[in-house]
Amino acid sequence: MCCICRRRLAKAELLRHVRGVSEKGEGFVPDPKGEMPGRGLYVCGHAECRERFLRYGDRRKKR
Ligand SMILES: [Zn+2]
Repeated sequence: MCCICRRRLAKAELLRHVRGVSEKGEGFVPDPKGEMPGRGLYVCGHAECRERFLRYGDRRKKR
């Protein structure tokens, strides 16, 4: 399920992210292979969902 639009989609259509540290700092890191530890969050391929997901990560980071 996409965590932004809440649509149910096949795993192949979703991109897994886990909380971690990337070059941009702490936030959500894409995990295309699905092998990183931690709770995964799935986002679908829609541009709007990807954008909102990035903002979602930023908001969580500032708290
Ligand atoms: Zn979505």
